[in-house]
Amino acid sequence: MGSYVNLLKKAVYNQHLSREEIIRLLSAAGEEEIRMLYAAADEVTRVHLGNEVHLRGIIEFSNHCKRNCLYCGIRRGNKKLTRYRMEPDEIVNTALYAFKLGYPTVVLQSGEDDWYSMEIMCWIVKNIKKTANLAITLSLGEKSSQEYHRLKQAGADRYLMRFETSNQKLYGQLHPGVSYENRMQCLFTLRELGYELGTGFLVGLPGQTIADLAGDILLLQKLDADMAGIGPFIAHPDTPLKGCGSGNLDMVLKVLSIVRLLMPQTNIPATTAVGTVDNIGRQRALKAGANVIMPNVTPQKYRELYQLYPGKICIDERPEHCRICVEGLIMSAGKIRGSGFGSSPKWKERAAVIQP
Ligand code: SF4
Repeated sequence: MGSYVNLLKKAVYNQHLSREEIIRLLSAAGEEEIRMLYAAADEVTRVHLGNEVHLRGIIEFSNHCKRNCLYCGIRRGNKKLTRYRMEPDEIVNTALYAFKLGYPTVVLQSGEDDWYSMEIMCWIVKNIKKTANLAITLSLGEKSSQEYHRLKQAGADRYLMRFETSNQKLYGQLHPGVSYENRMQCLFTLRELGYELGTGFLVGLPGQTIADLAGDILLLQKLDADMAGIGPFIAHPDTPLKGCGSGNLDMVLKVLSIVRLLMPQTNIPATTAVGTVDNIGRQRALKAGANVIMPNVTPQKYRELYQLYPGKICIDERPEHCRICVEGLIMSAGKIRGSGFGSSPKWKERAAVIQP
């Protein structure tokens, strides 16, 4: 127990641990060790980021995808899925509706869908920006550096793209025809272009080890992520990984807490997937280091068609109902709703230096 406490202190003071030390923290078994880990993460969140929980309204605007990631419900190979695309003006109007509902940020997310050309995506971003004071996060997958640059020039503020696992062999098995090196290159390019960078990984992937999870945490630090999305793997029945065991919530929360100790100024969402594996999963995450929630503002008719994993919560709710529900969730975790865009403090410092 004493060595566990010392390791927690080292994480808080140094914000650096070796792979072996992270493995030791992840191996917390007894209730007392786990309680201390979550409490330390909650305290670090409060000291560095306050008691606020920031909201990002997510719009899942297309479930077409040219990729075939083995775990994903909207992968190209899933022929059972009805596909949809929102029209560009429908996306803009949905973003403006999110603004009216009081969301300061929207996340525009889709599969890797080339139907939306650069002209179309830039038109969407510009039209949202010219009408509403919204921060825009894009989550469109891998693009060329020129394309990332054009989207930034159009007004995009943030980009979200998980690396999913730092184990290159596992990455190759899960992502046929996709290069790990290119993924990394994309992430470093996004940072260089001045985006607020969101990335992250899945916990509980088939074949993933605890040492891999320690490597994932170290990679988040190397990328100096401004936002870290950590969610459980949930096996989808219409994918090659159907029947595999899903990620364990306790392990997700341990990972999340350790990331909070090592990266105190990084925004960490209590993901919808965490709320899917446990109906109070998001409240638990908010008490273990998370400080962001991403309510769904996708029009209701499309929601059930965007299930990257099965059983996703909130697909029957209307956006205005989600808004009310999320307020209650934040209060029940003893937190308050955040104000402003909720950018990570370290990104704000970086932006102030790069763009005086
Ligand atoms: S994880 Fe992303 S890139 Fe992979 S199939 Fe799903 S939507 Fe497409």
